[in-house]
Amino acid sequence: MILLKIGPSMDKKIFIGVGSNMGQSYKNCVMAIKKISSDRRAYLRSISSFYQTSPISAIEQNDFINCAIEIDWMGTPQELLQFLNEIESSMGRVRSEKNGPRVIDLDILLYGNRVINEDSLTVPHKELHRRRFAIMPCLEIDPHLTLTKPLATFLGETGDDQKITKLEGIGFDEGE
Ligand code: ATP
Ligand code: CA
Ligand code: CA
Repeated sequence: MILLKIGPSMDKKIFIGVGSNMGQSYKNCVMAIKKISSDRRAYLRSISSFYQTSPISAIEQNDFINCAIEIDWMGTPQELLQFLNEIESSMGRVRSEKNGPRVIDLDILLYGNRVINEDSLTVPHKELHRRRFAIMPCLEIDPHLTLTKPLATFLGETGDDQKITKLEGIGFDEGE
């Protein structure tokens, strides 16, 4: 008889927002993605283009590099958040002022169809529908993503003038 090892279920359509605007922002994003994909609990399904985005905060700081990735995760959402926090810390993230500059920011944007409202974890990410820099890379990976309505419909409703430029010719591989 063959016994199959049954582990925690693999949740699909987990989207993580990756951002940096300190140091070598692009390389920081690439490094964070590599750290995620090298963990045995994570499987990297897809990476969006990289985007250069002006900061949404009033605090004077550099432009961000942003992208999104889709992964499978063998574990709970809370374990994923802890894992992402550990990567942020290992890369020197220090939490100072809210919306201030950061070496790396890893947010869980979507976790399949899960809705989570805990003190330390809100899924879908509470600002996703208001942030074009988060919506655009997710839609690039999956144009059919839906919150209460298709994610694409939120793009025209954010009412902001944030400048977001897709960086043509710069992808994950070039950071090797
Ligand atoms: P924002 O949440 O507006 O993007 P931020 O990313 O700068 O702001 P952080 O200081 O990185 O905020 O995170 C603050 C806390 O948010 C984290 O300690 C974490 O517990 C909590 N949090 C809640 N929901 C999420 C989520 N979906 N992904 C990541 N962190 C989350
Ligand atoms: Ca964030
Ligand atoms: Ca964050």
